Amino acid sequence: MSTARSLLGLQETDQQLAMRRRSYRQIVEELESEGGIPELKSALERARIRELELKLEAARNESEAATLRDRVKQLEERLYSGAITNVRELTAIETEHNTARRELARVDEAIAPSKLAAEEADQVHDRLKTDLAEKEQVWAVRRKELLKERSRIGSEYKKIGAERESATEGISPLDLEVYNALLPRMNGVAVVKVDRGVCLGCRVRLPIGEISRMQNAVGLVNCSSCGRILLTE
Ligand SMILES: [Zn+2]
Repeated sequence: MSTARSLLGLQETDQQLAMRRRSYRQIVEELESEGGIPELKSALERARIRELELKLEAARNESEAATLRDRVKQLEERLYSGAITNVRELTAIETEHNTARRELARVDEAIAPSKLAAEEADQVHDRLKTDLAEKEQVWAVRRKELLKERSRIGSEYKKIGAERESATEGISPLDLEVYNALLPRMNGVAVVKVDRGVCLGCRVRLPIGEISRMQNAVGLVNCSSCGRILLTE
């Protein structure tokens, strides 16, 4: 068997290995993503805090309104008790009463929207909780599949890697070196066939002289256009 043919066999093995390396990497990446669960967990935590804040705000509005209502009542009692006859004092209480009533109206108006916002935040929080539970279930199944697939690809890789060892037998170290250097540069295709005088790597027609030189050559012949190792029938 010619060295070029041996190298073509080796290249097939290397392509198999590269394919598994890619799959392995994809699986590792997917495992690391954890099915988007970490992101969902932080979204859930944010929603929980948001809900708490809005509930607190709604409660604060209600208690503030209650305090103001008491204050308004007290001031009204004083205003209409008839006990205060001093005009300046009456005016001062009246002013305070007006202020308190305005403030009460403002807070009262804020109660309903703040309650609604808290309710909505509660719903968002609940929805995220449900989403997370569902996602965790799905991920548990997917994760198992991925782990199984990862170990399958890992053992395949080992097996093919061992085959690669034997595939290099009979190839001179120098030729191997040429091939190994070419492979990554040529995107995993370092050895190509020549079909009716055309390099199947770059589709360029080889000069007539090169084909006969190739047929008589003892060592490897590279395409003068793309540099790949050529194989003729
Ligand atoms: Zn070429």
